[in-house]
Amino acid sequence: MVATISKTRSKPTRDEAFALIDAATRIADFGESIPCPRCGQPLIYEDIGNSFIVECTDETCIRTGCRGI
Ligand SMILES: [Zn+2]
Repeated sequence: MVATISKTRSKPTRDEAFALIDAATRIADFGESIPCPRCGQPLIYEDIGNSFIVECTDETCIRTGCRGI
């Protein structure tokens, strides 16, 4: 059997998660363009009500989110 390579996102490390949260704030507040801490591609910020997701443009790369405060 051949293992199929699934296109799933990898979990960010603690440092990467912090970088993503920081990037989310800067993108949301200042409209900055922040590169992914892992691969350097642009990050996407998505505001969903009282929470947000910030993720890499590469769909196999990292993503993190924050739920309502
Ligand atoms: Zn990336």
